[in-house]
Amino acid sequence: MDESHDFSKWEFHKFEINGRHILYDVNSAQFFSIDEATYNLLDYIKKYDKDDLSGIPAGKFPKEDILDTLEELEDYREKGLICIGKPELPDMPDGNETVKLAPLSKLTINVANDCNMRCKYCWNHYGTYTGSPKLMDENTAVKAVDFLFNRSEDSKNLEIDFYGGEPLLNFDILKFCTEYAFKRAETENKKITFSIQTNGTLLDDGIIEYLEGRNFGIFMSIDGDSMYHDSVRIEKDGTGTWSKVTSAARKILDNRRSKIQIRATLTPSNMNLSDTVQYLEKMGFEKVAAEYALELDTKKDNKKKVFFNSADRDRQRDELIRYAMTYLDKILAGSYSSWFDLEIADVYNNTPSSWAEIT
Ligand code: SF4
Repeated sequence: MDESHDFSKWEFHKFEINGRHILYDVNSAQFFSIDEATYNLLDYIKKYDKDDLSGIPAGKFPKEDILDTLEELEDYREKGLICIGKPELPDMPDGNETVKLAPLSKLTINVANDCNMRCKYCWNHYGTYTGSPKLMDENTAVKAVDFLFNRSEDSKNLEIDFYGGEPLLNFDILKFCTEYAFKRAETENKKITFSIQTNGTLLDDGIIEYLEGRNFGIFMSIDGDSMYHDSVRIEKDGTGTWSKVTSAARKILDNRRSKIQIRATLTPSNMNLSDTVQYLEKMGFEKVAAEYALELDTKKDNKKKVFFNSADRDRQRDELIRYAMTYLDKILAGSYSSWFDLEIADVYNNTPSSWAEIT
């Protein structure tokens, strides 16, 4: 039998959550909301042969229901929504071939390997990534922008994301890159957009005006209310940064010229995902992402920083489920606006990609 028709080769998991029956198809990485009958039938599906239902206990399910469900699953298989057997992989180069690299359309430029803050959960050694603090110079900036354009081939829409550390520590070079890229885009009849990931503490009126003038997308970190934020996102002297960053964020929000998106990082002293996201949404931010702080395993001092113990991990799982349900309800109600970006893989080792209904 062709493997793709053989349900005994199907890799899936099923589970119940908040009264919903869920099917996860391993090879397509898709989640499905299924009805209870389908859920129960899945226990026998590996013995499925539509011409011989003897693998399914007599009298357990009405024959018509069995056939309907099996047909529906076949239909999903044919449409490629579920994947039975080994997924087809593209041919890989054998090592002797010249690999043609895909054209580039987006480049992240790290203009500052340094940071003016000392967040308690900082994962990159305050922007230095275990090296010495340094700022990009003009020469390297030109090379970076040229690299993007020279590798972009026919791509018409290009994007540069400025990153650090804190990229605004090197605002002059950021501006230089932006103007240089803008000119190259004009000359080459391409469109370029810019974004920045910033801690928000250096955003004065002049910088905000510049970023808005070049239509930057602005990603800023605010971890929730002032008490929690100020306990973890601190300057070198330990001062909290909440009022500084929220006032800059408020200006950007009020000007309505640049899109602003907020990222919150949670630690054991604030595990409350749903409330944190809701708090930030109530402040007026439409796009909010939240994630749990990364565990650190540093080569520099050989110390592993573990934030979450196993009880915290259980709490994370409960919070993720609570938030996922709110997220789903919002989507179904057509009112969802936030941007959901969680390290679910850390907790479940799998990341949901999409939902569908099998009824
Ligand atoms: S803003 Fe905080 S987390 Fe980001 S690099 Fe600086 S110290 Fe680290």
